[in-house]
Amino acid sequence: MAPPSGAFRRGTIAVPLLRWFRAHRRDLPWRRDRDPYRIWVAEVLLQQTRVEQARPYFDRFLSAFPTVRALASASEEEVLRVWAGAGYYARARNLRNAARTIVEDRGGQWPTNAAEWAELPGVGPYISAAVASLADGEPVVALDANGLRVAARLTAEAGPTGSPGVRRRLHRFLEQELPPRRPGAFNEALMELGETVCRPRRPNCPECPLAFRCQAFRNLPDPGELPFRRAKSVRPHQVASVVALRCGDRWLVQRRASEGLLGGLWEFPGGKWAPGEGAESAARRELLEETGLVAPPLTPTGVISQSYSHFTVDLHLFEGEVKGPAPGLREPGRQRWVTWSEFDRLPVPKATERAAERLRSRPDTVSRGSGSRPGRTPASRRKAARSRPARAPLRPTHA
Ligand code: SF4
Repeated sequence: MAPPSGAFRRGTIAVPLLRWFRAHRRDLPWRRDRDPYRIWVAEVLLQQTRVEQARPYFDRFLSAFPTVRALASASEEEVLRVWAGAGYYARARNLRNAARTIVEDRGGQWPTNAAEWAELPGVGPYISAAVASLADGEPVVALDANGLRVAARLTAEAGPTGSPGVRRRLHRFLEQELPPRRPGAFNEALMELGETVCRPRRPNCPECPLAFRCQAFRNLPDPGELPFRRAKSVRPHQVASVVALRCGDRWLVQRRASEGLLGGLWEFPGGKWAPGEGAESAARRELLEETGLVAPPLTPTGVISQSYSHFTVDLHLFEGEVKGPAPGLREPGRQRWVTWSEFDRLPVPKATERAAERLRSRPDTVSRGSGSRPGRTPASRRKAARSRPARAPLRPTHA
């Protein structure tokens, strides 16, 4: 439902919104200057992530790659390792690719408007508008999920905000409200209001500076009913087996293809069960198919259940030991035998991290020289490894 025409005067929300923002603006590291690099990294992290969750990842990323040149010269593996845990790994790969475009193709010159930003890999309409308005002061509307929600409530928009027509309508509405001199602050303020006051389920309307102008607040018993939400689709569930294959103090890991889910991350060999297959037979078949290695006797080591943004998985973990020298690898560029300390420097999915923690916490594994040190938990080991300065990528042992 479009806003009733003439229901309110246009161009009236910027002043109260910016006044509210001055009083309630959170002090965030990417807000302290107009540095396009910091703003860009922050906006990429903030897509589908709340500010407080994104903040430690921002600090870690900026301390590993303080400039666009540092990011452009890093390997994909280094970038993924620093990004590990933030999810949506394609965003990290795109950041690095875009940094290379800026340094190599644009001679280190930053884009200066939304259209130029949008030419970079992985930069869509929201990021391009957000960075251009914040760093360059270009008068363009940046509409994320928070801004969409606020705009939908202000105008009592009844359509789903995922619909292109609804988005265009809300975008036009905000364009008429955008103050040409302070577009970045306006965009930021709207998003801040959406995250802290006009929350998805229970909007705090009594504290809202825009309540005087809000059609949902005036006309609906519960403004939180808007925007219209489609029923969430159920995430697919996978059942898979993985083999943690050990040879001496090294473990076999392999890198996932760059494209697709969890792309570029390292994990133990394994995969989904075939129809009618059991846990161990799937483990043996996957190991053979992926590495050409016939599995030795396998010990079941438990099941790890993990939720990702797009699916959930039950991983049946098996451990096996190869005697003698480490077998040659079919694809040494993407398969490696690594010690635990080398493992700690690889970007890995959460389920693989938990599998490794389980293996390392086994008393027999510890006594075989796992690299465990008294007083250090698996989480603290990985944290310590991540906080170390970026190093050259690991070389495969069979390269
Ligand atoms: Fe959101 Fe309530 Fe403010 Fe309307 S009055 S914009 S529903 S917080």
